[in-house]
Amino acid sequence: MRVSEGQVTVTVPEQPEAGKGADVFFNPVQELNRDITVAALRAYRERTPRVSTYLDATAASGIRGVRAAANDWETTLCDIDDDATALCEQNLERNDLAASVRRSDANVLMHSEAFDVVDVDPFGTPIPFADAAVQGTKHLLCVTATDTAPLCGAHFESGVRSYGAVPRNTEFHAEMGMRVLLSAMVRTAARYDIAARPILSHATKHYARTYLAFDHGAKVANDCIDELGYVHHCQHCLWRDHDYGLIADPPDDCPVCDEHLQTAGPIWLGRTCDPEFVSAVSEQVTEEMGTADEATELLATLGAEIDTPTHYDQHRLCKRWGRGAEAMDEFIEKLRDAGYAASRTHYGGTTFKTDADVVEIREATAE
Ligand code: SAM
Repeated sequence: MRVSEGQVTVTVPEQPEAGKGADVFFNPVQELNRDITVAALRAYRERTPRVSTYLDATAASGIRGVRAAANDWETTLCDIDDDATALCEQNLERNDLAASVRRSDANVLMHSEAFDVVDVDPFGTPIPFADAAVQGTKHLLCVTATDTAPLCGAHFESGVRSYGAVPRNTEFHAEMGMRVLLSAMVRTAARYDIAARPILSHATKHYARTYLAFDHGAKVANDCIDELGYVHHCQHCLWRDHDYGLIADPPDDCPVCDEHLQTAGPIWLGRTCDPEFVSAVSEQVTEEMGTADEATELLATLGAEIDTPTHYDQHRLCKRWGRGAEAMDEFIEKLRDAGYAASRTHYGGTTFKTDADVVEIREATAE
């Protein structure tokens, strides 16, 4: 079947059942991910004009790499699968574009060659590619993870094994997953004296996606490690706190309700986006993108999110408190009127971030 995205049209096999069993994988639901990738590549090149090379490390049909090539990136498409690389060649030809196609294990390629921008968009966890990707990236590493259950603590042991961190299944699960992924990527890069800082990250429709800008040197890598730490969370009253460092220092019990606290970490506690970059990406979302409206809305929400390591869900809180939920704008306004910082988040329509704690939120938003 033919698929048009952005400026390109590619051929992809019919996907029997959510991509499973097809000769070459294609997921139409990831169009938003790919549209934002193209906008991010454009914005990143404006910010760093010397960059020119892009590796689509797990290319499948090549749609992502073909779109990068159509945006004048000197592109390499890599896949371990013969059918995939043959389709990449056809899709480049169909669009009259030139790029290098490599049938290879991406880990072998990324260990032997470095690219300005590397994109790892695998099945499930990106961790098997993490070490090679860090070594094969000069400036920007883009990573997708679709194994959300291990990341957010719903599959606890699997999360611990893959990410070398303790994930906890909280009501802010998508953000937990994002910060566990970022922690693993930051620690992997730090092993090579590289600071990997997220400049754009979003959790959308069962995947987490992040763009990590690299800076080389032991000092900056240490600065990144300093932004790792632990979140302590009460499943009963939803109170939480965090502390920086690689040694967890939890309070004995929840200071609000005396229940046991669960600790997650080390997770990334720093910013997940650079608001200036988010705004630059938004300017690069163009009309020909099929998800332009959704991408613009998502980027606007990301840009306005205040910087806290967790978020709340108004409906979950109100249920605990035995009171009815209200319109999000009014709820957030009440927090602001009481002197707290507050914003919506992209994690869900009823979610918000604030610097108020759970007791302060309850008081500030009471009728
Ligand atoms: N990036 C694609 C897109 O936007 O449509 C989807 C990629 S698909 C989720 C993952 C691809 O990774 C598959 O085509 C698979 O053959 C490939 N793959 C798996 N292991 C690999 C490896 N070690 N090296 C390179 N490619 C690999």
